[in-house]
Amino acid sequence: MIKFWKKRIQNKLLTEHLTHDKTLSEIQKELKNSIAKQFASSLNIRMVDSGSCNACESECNALSNPYYNLERLGIQFVASPRHADVLLVSGVNTFNMHPHLLDAYAQMPSPKYVITIGDCPLTATSVYDESFAIVGNVAKHLPVAHHITGCPPSPNEIIVGLLEFLRGLDRS
Ligand code: SF4
Repeated sequence: MIKFWKKRIQNKLLTEHLTHDKTLSEIQKELKNSIAKQFASSLNIRMVDSGSCNACESECNALSNPYYNLERLGIQFVASPRHADVLLVSGVNTFNMHPHLLDAYAQMPSPKYVITIGDCPLTATSVYDESFAIVGNVAKHLPVAHHITGCPPSPNEIIVGLLEFLRGLDRS
């Protein structure tokens, strides 16, 4: 115990990674400017779990904590697809969830975009393709504008993925 406290006192508190914070704040600044320009400072996301393990959702939840604080940049997760600009899809697109996924997309006002998150929605080449319970590959059924890879992607990777999506929109 004495050894532990001695080490803590010598090293001081290491709760923040300054390089990481600096990079994150630069990414957040670009994200905020891009949302202001392309979505009048308000990008609404409806997330649909089409059959996930919930880890992708947990990482998305972390985006609302005081550290990432995405709402300050203009990003809100909304409860209704009718209020959404982006449909964020996680999971393997199960047989039971598939009609609800299509329904959520149909209810969104145009212009509307689909982003897939995690490796699950790209199950075209996986073992799941053989299952009667999985419809699979979301991109075969909806126009996917961007994919955020990872299993699960970290909050940082999700933020970078959203920025890449906005950069792509800016170019088109
Ligand atoms: S991509 Fe990975 S973490 Fe995300 S829902 Fe699928 S299995 Fe879970």
